[in-house]
Amino acid sequence: MDLFSPVTELRGIGPARAKQLQKLQIRTLYDLLAFFPRGYEDRTQLVPIEELQPGQPVCFRALVISQPQLHRIRKGLDITRVQVADATGRLKLVFFNRPYLKDQLHYGEEYFFYGALADDYGAQVTNPVFEPVSKPGAVTGRILPIYPLTAGVTNTMLVSCVQQALAAAADALPEILPAQVRMEYGLCGVKQAYRAIHAPQSQQELTDARRRLVFEEFFIFSAGLSMLRAERTDVHTDPYRTDVLDRFWSALPFPPTGAQRRAVNEVLHDLSSGRPMNRLLQGDVGSGKTVVAAAACWCTVKNGRQAAFMAPTEILAEQHARTLEGLLGPLGVKIILLTGSLGAAAKRAALSAIEDGSAQLVVGTHALISANVRFQRLGLVIADEQHRFGVAQRTQLTAKGNCPHLLVMSATPIPRTLALIAYGDLDVSILDELPPGRRRVETYLVDESMRSRIHAFIRRQCSEGHQVYVICPAVEDSEDGTLKSAESWAEALEKTVFPDLRVGLLHGKMKGPEKDDALTRFAAGETDILVATTVVEVGVDVPNATLIVIENADRFGLSQLHQLRGRVGRGGAQSYCVLFSSSRNAETQARLKALCATNDGFRIAEQDLALRGPGDFFGSRQHGLPLLKVASLQMDLDTLRQAQAAAAQYITDSSSLTSPALAPLRARVQALFNGGEISLN
Ligand code: ADP
Ligand code: MG
Repeated sequence: MDLFSPVTELRGIGPARAKQLQKLQIRTLYDLLAFFPRGYEDRTQLVPIEELQPGQPVCFRALVISQPQLHRIRKGLDITRVQVADATGRLKLVFFNRPYLKDQLHYGEEYFFYGALADDYGAQVTNPVFEPVSKPGAVTGRILPIYPLTAGVTNTMLVSCVQQALAAAADALPEILPAQVRMEYGLCGVKQAYRAIHAPQSQQELTDARRRLVFEEFFIFSAGLSMLRAERTDVHTDPYRTDVLDRFWSALPFPPTGAQRRAVNEVLHDLSSGRPMNRLLQGDVGSGKTVVAAAACWCTVKNGRQAAFMAPTEILAEQHARTLEGLLGPLGVKIILLTGSLGAAAKRAALSAIEDGSAQLVVGTHALISANVRFQRLGLVIADEQHRFGVAQRTQLTAKGNCPHLLVMSATPIPRTLALIAYGDLDVSILDELPPGRRRVETYLVDESMRSRIHAFIRRQCSEGHQVYVICPAVEDSEDGTLKSAESWAEALEKTVFPDLRVGLLHGKMKGPEKDDALTRFAAGETDILVATTVVEVGVDVPNATLIVIENADRFGLSQLHQLRGRVGRGGAQSYCVLFSSSRNAETQARLKALCATNDGFRIAEQDLALRGPGDFFGSRQHGLPLLKVASLQMDLDTLRQAQAAAAQYITDSSSLTSPALAPLRARVQALFNGGEISLN
């Protein structure tokens, strides 16, 4: 047997079982070895009977002190009862529908049991598993791995399969971490790691195995990103002339902030470097990323190339097209919009303008990546709110040009430590300064007792000519009715609370044109209150909105709340954010109060990281990166940083991974990125 032998070579696995295992994506011995437990039951500690706690399963060692009694209660239900004892106390054991037990549990013999004390029946344990002390086996006295299961596949069966696979194939596992790295970071070898993750002898072994596997996963991941980067930047391009910005600056309606100037200079430096730019522009909501993007577009156009600006939604694409038209239209740049909802004739016209080069700046949605879009001379790709795009999508768009420059913009502040991983293939510019005159959004945490005062506050904002967002966590009413839904709350506000005001509705289940209509009307001031779901989270810009009320605020992550809050405070007027929450949970309260205390997105992201762990950043697919397996089980930032540093040592240019010794690493990198959504070619 080798690593890639089919599971049917194992004892007890015939075609039927193999089929069931396939539902868990397990086909080969290697799949089994890489099928990690989702948790463990520590059955190594023996607890005296008098110390058993209700509801907490543990191991205990006890003597059977009565003959097992089998009682037939009715058809289909029988009960076996037996008394056991140790030096500290005695217990009743109760088994349902196991008539054969009376022949397996013998009076006067000692057993290891694993089970939990019942909550409400006194000293009783129901259905414990057991093994004779004279013949300990697989279910007690050890740290038992608990696997994710599917119909027909039991944990016991998986334990047995994995044990067999370890015995047959663990020796063949390739070691992808160079010996020097393992030594430097004190990591165990691959065979030991796989053995211990499935059958740890102690908690320490388990910790060591996990650390090694998390490290490995990040190492592969970082190596992959470094390779992407190396492949993109080890290319020669014609350097742009960058002495063309004077007209841009003088046409700008306001002086740029220092941070904007700095970021533009970094971009210009890349454009003139003779290698493709590969840059992430991170800036808090309202920091003015669009100006930086516009400067990059201007420079590109002045160098005789086209620029493409990709936004995640039609609403945002239209908004960006308007803004860029305002900034670059007066300078003579020809800008066109390409979205899915364009009519056939308009679309044909747009496509031919893109192809013949007369469209100098093309703003659009995913429509930009479709095959029929052909640029005459694409020089720059800008992707806004990049976490909504997969890395694959930005790769597809750059494939439309001959190694065009790439600028990725994100308003989701990611803690620096994680940014290193998530954006390891990009250089980073940060806008850490808001345009002058911005007042901080005053934020309040309230509960239901404040409801009528908040209604009055909404009314006051509207009577002063301002507008209000009300954010609900759900679109429609749920069964249990615990969450406010946009649909029924909008109706309630319109019919009973604010019959004299104009209430709009916007949520993700509405059709494209309906959504556009709702937003356009709000932007034009034709509605006073917009009840919406998180569809307004990203980028929507209505400067006249001065209040955002967020219902069930505890349902959102801090970074998400911060994004939502960024919808107000975009004009000159003082703005407010009201967080409704009825949660009494101390941790939840602390989280929400942290948001009231600061407007700094990066600090909030750091707090989110500290309070909820990096799962929120890596556990979701939002970032468009492949899902990590072990790392999301137990994340350790130090390990992450170490793996990043170690990978950086090995990947210095695009040929770094060609040495035969690193072939296993290369294979894993390719598997991770191709199995996910990233292509490495
Ligand atoms: P972001 O995309 O980073 O959230 P935007 O580019 O949409 O921010 O800019 C937010 C608002 O700030 C816009 O209304 C824009 O016109 C304005 N703005 C941008 N830069 C400046 C500046 N330097 N001075 C004054 N206002 C600015
Ligand atoms: Mg923006």
